[in-house]
Amino acid sequence: MTQSQSLLEVRNLKKYFPIRGGVFGRKVGEVKAVDDVSFSVNKGETLGIVGESGCGKSTTGRAILRLEEPTSGNVEFEGNELTRLKKEAMRRMRRELQMVFQDPFASLNPRKTAFEIIEEPLKVHGIGHASERKEQVMELLQVVGLDVSHAGRYPHQFSGGQRQRIGIARALAVRPKLIVADEPVSALDVSIQSQVLNLLEDLQHTFDLTYVFIAHDLSVVRHISDRVGVMYLGRMVELANRDSLYDQPLHPYTQALLSAVPVPDPDSVRERIILSGDVPTPSNPPKGCAFHTRCPHVMDICQEVRPEFKDYGEEHYVACHLLEK
Ligand code: SF4
Repeated sequence: MTQSQSLLEVRNLKKYFPIRGGVFGRKVGEVKAVDDVSFSVNKGETLGIVGESGCGKSTTGRAILRLEEPTSGNVEFEGNELTRLKKEAMRRMRRELQMVFQDPFASLNPRKTAFEIIEEPLKVHGIGHASERKEQVMELLQVVGLDVSHAGRYPHQFSGGQRQRIGIARALAVRPKLIVADEPVSALDVSIQSQVLNLLEDLQHTFDLTYVFIAHDLSVVRHISDRVGVMYLGRMVELANRDSLYDQPLHPYTQALLSAVPVPDPDSVRERIILSGDVPTPSNPPKGCAFHTRCPHVMDICQEVRPEFKDYGEEHYVACHLLEK
């Protein structure tokens, strides 16, 4: 992967959650929510991470920011190994890495005004005096397309789209370099989604931002991403630039996902690939390739050996034995 311009390097990231049982609450197993994931994010780009619910994409985003402590692996941001930072150093580092959450209603304190919500990270990081902070908050409200006269309103007095704009202003307040956006438009009406996506794109150019954009909706991810990674059962199975991935998907899972997306061109006929079986549980993922229980191309080796995540040319990474032949 490109080393020179990379802002974030994620290497062999794992996040396992213990399953406890019995009267003594002993550990009886673990959920492998993120299971050996590696990727890099270049300065100024948007890396989309896509996959079905439960594939580990949100946990990956949270583990990057250490909102969930990684079980193992490395997360290097501008040369700093985040997993080794002590609590206070990590708190300071969060100025550079911010998160926008899926549900703006749940992630905004209902008892605080829009002004207080956006001002909070400035206070936490000791930025500016009260009058300077006020000026900055008012500017941020304008930047995200909100009326400054509504600064004193509470979250419930805004629409869903406006609440997400407050969430974006809050993330932007400390002038981060990287924003992890976890399903930032999936709770919004379709008509509002594109407005918020356009806002995120405008802000990226204005503030020189880098995004990790997590979503289950392939069309939304295509709209905003430069490169896209596909996750299945805690693993990254394919990663490529957007056009390669959408026009020539190489992994059978990506091919199946894309076959379900409606194509706007009526002359273009794409055969729908129906996957058999349910998604296996991440507490007991299949041996070998995690997708082998549902893959239409499964071979003997797939049931035994986990395929390596390899570059098959022009930084198109795939984990599949079919390509190794
Ligand atoms: Fe299918 Fe085998 Fe490739 Fe897995 S490794 S996606 S089971 S062909």
